[in-house]
Amino acid sequence: MEERTCFFCGRNGNGDPLERHHVFGGAYRKKSDKYGAVVWLCGNKCHREGPQSMHKNVYNNRFLKRIFQRRIMEREHWDMDRWIQEFGKNYYPLIPGEEGYGEEEE
Ligand SMILES: [Zn+2]
Ligand SMILES: [Zn+2]
Repeated sequence: MEERTCFFCGRNGNGDPLERHHVFGGAYRKKSDKYGAVVWLCGNKCHREGPQSMHKNVYNNRFLKRIFQRRIMEREHWDMDRWIQEFGKNYYPLIPGEEGYGEEEE
């Protein structure tokens, strides 16, 4: 049997019970279910409240979305147009504050 662990830090939920997190929320919540983009996270530390948590830290949130964008595109054999059609946007580009942001064009 597969042991359930936090996707982000690998802990098993002792003292901070694991919670399910939809990698692509809002309008894409159902598609996250459909395509398996749902992970377990330490409820407090990694999911909702901690400074590194997916709902507080835009960089970690973006990092997770990239992992699953790549996974789903590869598994479904989608090109970028198809991805955007299904999930609304490309999450690969760097965002302000990220290392390397703004250096790509040069
Ligand atoms: Zn969540
Ligand atoms: Zn965790």
